[in-house]
Amino acid sequence: FRMSVRSAAVSVTPLVTELRKDCTTPLPLLRHVADAMAADMRAGLAVEGGSDLKMILSYVDSLPTGNEKGLFYALDLGGTNFRVLRVQLGGKEERVIATEFDQVPIPKDLMFGTSEELFDFIASGLAQFAQNEGNKFHLPTGTKREIGFTFSFPVKQTAVDSGILIKWTKGFSVSGTAGRDVVACLNEAMERLGLDMRVSALVNDTVGTLAGARYWDDDVMVAVILGTGTNACYVERVDAIPKLQDHASSGSTIINTEWGAFSKGLPLTEFDRDMDAASINPGEQIFEKTISGMYLGEIVRRVLLKMAEADALFGDSILEKLSTPFVLGTPDLCAMQQDTSDDLQDVGSILYNVAGVESNPSARKIVVEVCDTIVKRGGRLAGAGIVGILQKMEEDSKGVIFGKRTVVAMDGGLYENYPQYRTYLSEAVTELLGDDSAKNVVIEHSKDGSGIGAALLAAANSKYH
Ligand code: ADP
Repeated sequence: FRMSVRSAAVSVTPLVTELRKDCTTPLPLLRHVADAMAADMRAGLAVEGGSDLKMILSYVDSLPTGNEKGLFYALDLGGTNFRVLRVQLGGKEERVIATEFDQVPIPKDLMFGTSEELFDFIASGLAQFAQNEGNKFHLPTGTKREIGFTFSFPVKQTAVDSGILIKWTKGFSVSGTAGRDVVACLNEAMERLGLDMRVSALVNDTVGTLAGARYWDDDVMVAVILGTGTNACYVERVDAIPKLQDHASSGSTIINTEWGAFSKGLPLTEFDRDMDAASINPGEQIFEKTISGMYLGEIVRRVLLKMAEADALFGDSILEKLSTPFVLGTPDLCAMQQDTSDDLQDVGSILYNVAGVESNPSARKIVVEVCDTIVKRGGRLAGAGIVGILQKMEEDSKGVIFGKRTVVAMDGGLYENYPQYRTYLSEAVTELLGDDSAKNVVIEHSKDGSGIGAALLAAANSKYH
């Protein structure tokens, strides 16, 4: 393709400098964010609605120990697919004897249909999968097949095996489910089919990730998802949850923070404010909009569009494509940041193919700097959020967190695939904790733990023991 050599890279430099300045995350700012996260967690635990963070009770208070035995199923509904999985658990020595899984796309029309239609479809997919149980799997006589149900929509949990759908999100608009117990919806569909299975645990995907990681490692205390969106959960002491009335006063439970709604002390720019204003949920999920995969590409697109319009960063390129919201994805930023060639050929082709603009090497260099600025801010703020959670846990239990090995289980496409983001996140954690405490905190990728985690929670909450 033809390269435009007339782009005015020199006059763009002040805009980049300004962006860098506005997005900077020096240690005092990160410390303030971590402190505010810890304070918001505390406020959300004190009273219902007491903070940006909902601090939802998961009712999961028995985590997998490794001793679980038997055949368990998991069902995961959270996006465009639903996934089913079965696992044969053999206890401490044998661990996972066998697993099998399947994935079924949800037909578009069911996302806009009735509750019965959607749950009938899911139950029949589950029935088909359950039919093909090979001889590696054994169900003890006299027991039902038990399911861990990962349901990644906002739910008001009422027990480990029931919860009321608050509202559909992520493009689902199914009539008749909001306000109902989603486990009852699934049970009724299974009954209509004559499928004799039982939901033993209803779990959020972060909670599933924590359980899946904990099965292999007793020191896992926190789980964080960084994918399209973001969320985190952690192990809390029951006596540190004032809003939990008539509870047993000992033991611990998992709290789903819904931390995407956090909003304090973040270094935001005009680009963030404009993106938020144009979003379907203005004023909400501000932390999520600053650190998660759905938004990083869009923030960069807005910056580049301004640089193109105000300073001709891409010469006289036509800006129609670059003006389209969400054309630039976070995977594109990631691909551009991996280009180490002198003239940034890959950056040039991505800009041309994805955003329809022509660029010379100095413009491409600026583009990479913009990507790095937004990704660095996101990764470092995510790190500060993690330290906020650890700090809250430490304040309530001196020495139990930083005085020994503590593992944070990470999952999600952004964390998994973006090496620079991962590095910035872990640098921020180390800066905040200092070398001594940082030595004890292990941030670990837990791949696809959430599916098997749900099956493990079904086992840990089985009615047959
Ligand atoms: P979800 O969060 O939608 O359940 P994932 O955890 O797989 O699913 O995350 C998908 C998200 O991860 C994408 O929306 C994208 O933002 C991000 N992502 C995927 N691949 C990459 C990549 N190569 N580089 C950076 N981000 C990526």
